[in-house]
Amino acid sequence: MPDDKNLNLSPKSADRIAKTTCYMCACRCGINVHIKGDEIRYIEGNRDHPVNNGVLCAKGSAGIMQHLSPARLNAPLKRVGKRGEGKFEKISWEEAMEMASSWLKPIRETDPRKLAFFTGRDQSQALTGWWAQQFGTPNFAAHGGFCSVNMAAAGIYTIGGAFWEFGSPDWQNTELFLLFGVAEDHDSNPIKIGLGKLKDRGIRTVSINPVQTGYSAVADDWIGITPGTDGLFILSLIHVLMKTGQIDLDYLIRYTNAPWLVIRRPGSADDGLFLRDENGQPQVLDHKTGKPISAETAGIRPQLKGEIALPNGGVAVPAFMLMAEDWLNDEHSPEASEAKTGIPAERVYALAGAIAEAAFKREVVIDQPWVDWKGEHHDKMIGRPVAMHAMRGISAHSNGFQTCRALPILQILIGSVETPGGFRFKPPYPKPAHIHPRPAGKPDQVKPSTPLPGAPLGYPMSPDDLLVDDQGQPVRIDKAYSWDAPLSAHGLMHMVISNAYAGDPYPVDVLFMYMANMAWNSSMNTRGVIDMLTETDPETGEYRIPKIIYSDAYSSEMVAYADLILPDTTYLERHDCISLLDRPICEPDCVADAIRWPVVEPDRDVRGFQSTLLDLGARLGLPGMVDADGKPLYRDYADYMTNHQRKPGIGPLAGFRGQSGKDKGRGDPNPDQIDAYIANGGFWSEELPENARYFKMANQHYQDFAVKMGFFDKPEPYCFQIYSEVLQKFQLAAQGHGKNQPPQHLRERIKACFTPLPQWYAPFEGDMVDSDTYPIHALTQRPMAMYHSWGSQNPWLRQIHGHNPLFIPSGLARSLQVQDGDWVWVSSHHGKIKVPVAVMEGVNPHTVWTWNAIGKRRGAWQLDPDAPEARKGFLLNHLIHELLPMRGDGLRWSNSDPITGQAAWFDLKVNITKADHEDDASAEPAFPILGTPPDLEKPASVLRYGDSIIARDKKENNQ
Ligand code: SF4
Repeated sequence: MPDDKNLNLSPKSADRIAKTTCYMCACRCGINVHIKGDEIRYIEGNRDHPVNNGVLCAKGSAGIMQHLSPARLNAPLKRVGKRGEGKFEKISWEEAMEMASSWLKPIRETDPRKLAFFTGRDQSQALTGWWAQQFGTPNFAAHGGFCSVNMAAAGIYTIGGAFWEFGSPDWQNTELFLLFGVAEDHDSNPIKIGLGKLKDRGIRTVSINPVQTGYSAVADDWIGITPGTDGLFILSLIHVLMKTGQIDLDYLIRYTNAPWLVIRRPGSADDGLFLRDENGQPQVLDHKTGKPISAETAGIRPQLKGEIALPNGGVAVPAFMLMAEDWLNDEHSPEASEAKTGIPAERVYALAGAIAEAAFKREVVIDQPWVDWKGEHHDKMIGRPVAMHAMRGISAHSNGFQTCRALPILQILIGSVETPGGFRFKPPYPKPAHIHPRPAGKPDQVKPSTPLPGAPLGYPMSPDDLLVDDQGQPVRIDKAYSWDAPLSAHGLMHMVISNAYAGDPYPVDVLFMYMANMAWNSSMNTRGVIDMLTETDPETGEYRIPKIIYSDAYSSEMVAYADLILPDTTYLERHDCISLLDRPICEPDCVADAIRWPVVEPDRDVRGFQSTLLDLGARLGLPGMVDADGKPLYRDYADYMTNHQRKPGIGPLAGFRGQSGKDKGRGDPNPDQIDAYIANGGFWSEELPENARYFKMANQHYQDFAVKMGFFDKPEPYCFQIYSEVLQKFQLAAQGHGKNQPPQHLRERIKACFTPLPQWYAPFEGDMVDSDTYPIHALTQRPMAMYHSWGSQNPWLRQIHGHNPLFIPSGLARSLQVQDGDWVWVSSHHGKIKVPVAVMEGVNPHTVWTWNAIGKRRGAWQLDPDAPEARKGFLLNHLIHELLPMRGDGLRWSNSDPITGQAAWFDLKVNITKADHEDDASAEPAFPILGTPPDLEKPASVLRYGDSIIARDKKENNQ
């Protein structure tokens, strides 16, 4: 008899509907969960929710199977075999927490740096970062360093926010939409809803992406660019628009630093910095007098051209003149870039023409008076209706930061940031770098039993803000905020294990991770990382990384390599807080936040990680987590969500504050706050006043609203930073100026890459390997139907992506004489894999690609060891190293962007040869089967959904 598990999930049989927030990807849509007794029957979209308006994607519906996954962990576990064997013993929570605190307490009392605390794509970084701060370790970050920090940081440093959680296209008003290198699993429903609106209105969409899938497949135009050349392509668009005078000069003068005067005094310590008055205010040339005056002066008309002589020699010119000098240069012409980008010059001219036509001939005018921060009244809101969106595709390169700066600058030049029809910020953004905190963790700030004076992550504004010691050496385990990666706003998670293993810059005692599958798809050089996790010191017999604590809800590959497992719940069984202090769910016209709550109780001995973390903090006596008597301040995460105040009146949730529950943004804690959220559908939202909806960076109405809501304590208007003085300060340091200077071996790299105006340089790996030996670009992307590594345990989603072929362009397939289903060897400077291929037309002719994180290690995730994910699925990670090839000076650089440390996943270059035919071929490298933690549920061999029976025998189910 088959093991028949009849789930009887008919929505008709539900007896209650619980409204909460989806966590099948990072979009955080509102969902209605239909429940009968304690069984979940059905999930639908919440029509009232500001993020998804009722839309639900395949992943969201399949949350029911995520919740029922047989890979769910059941209880705290202590490793009893060797690392990687998967041998564990179940222990009580008390024993688990005592073990964790006995490991962490001595570290905190002696050297808090010896704890490295890194999380994956969790949605509670406001808590986890604060916990690390209170512990006193600078070694904290989440997954952003290997995801899309270039996009996030470049956006913050340039305009005060980036795409997705920070901002959105003005779907209602745009007349042309451009998508650059999008990750299809990010901003999933909102983009689909937005694209639907554009299709309804007949608006043209252009996708610039080496691969024509997903959004690119439904775009009106697809531009199949060569990977890593997006910056060059954007600069050539800028070149054409500037050369033809199709830029918005009034916008540049009002809202950007284009008129700010830049000192030109080559060789001096202030060369390239802004000319400032005695109060530090940047200066502009007043059109009336021709004299310098503070850029903040009301009623002036600054010049974009001109020059003044400086008393101590040299001159100062508006930044706009440097922009023109640079970007009008023929090296940025479409003709000069076409060989590298693979895009014929005429397509660049055509696209530039389309941008100019939409921006200047179809301007959008909203009859809405508003007042700017200088007190000037405007009777209308006028916009340039060209909107853009981008994500990891242009970001995960070693030149990604400058590319991600070039993109908002293209939008600024045509006046389409925060104007009708363009790109719009979502509150609490815009928020420029200078009002974010600097990173804490300088050598004198890390002390035993002492919290850091601020958050470990922040935004440096000069070399003086780096986290380096007196010799200029890194103080963080991932070397973030060092000269290796000065603006690493999200840390470098991909370097943590290799640095900890090497004891460089020092060894750690405990590696504490949450939801980060570092023993598989989240690490470059997967096999190497597995070795680092398991290697012992020959003298002591201890593991090189002595203790690993890991928390996850599922039996992922990483579980087998940890010493102590703290099992998390599923997203339907716990409290969560989608907070304005973290990554909000606001829309351009409304402020919003949301919760998750236990719509069903766990049937296992598991706890929400955030509650576990607060318990651990209390056991360690961390300030803010215990009262004066050392007793826990918070019962659990729900209690923290309600009662924690980051500063007076500001807590994790902005809605239903105050004793009456009527305060918004600021207000005392409200004991009934979570109930109010539940009654309101799991979220809270507040509309922006009509006059505050555009020009937020300069709009007095918005600034006042932001102060009222608690985003800022005072209005913080600012200008967009086309010319980056921050980068110039690093340039000057590399030229030998200032008290903090980079080590000699990094100076030339900093001079080449830290240009104050974005420039394109070749991605490092492609530049270092022999292009005849490795002529082909290789990419991965996540499909819309899955998110990170979770999707492949889900029987419904596995039917969409059960394995991942290597997609190769038809021309390459012909030259290799391969067709669908054949196998090839793919090699890089680091490794070699054997994989099945599928031939496709819609891909750049020099590029191959595959879906990431479908391939699974045998034995993990409760899949059958012969499941297609394990047999035919594969990772490109085996070909990617966290270090670049050796250079002439014997050094190896991190395979990262030199400015932010973003993992350069997409710089990979490979060679491909046909493999011999084998009838039962399997992907290589193959790894031994992972052991399974005790008491995991046996996978069902038959699943039924309501009356529509999906009956499969075990073989079909898991293969
Ligand atoms: S887009 Fe993401 S959050 Fe929204 S329903 Fe789909 S999986 Fe859930």
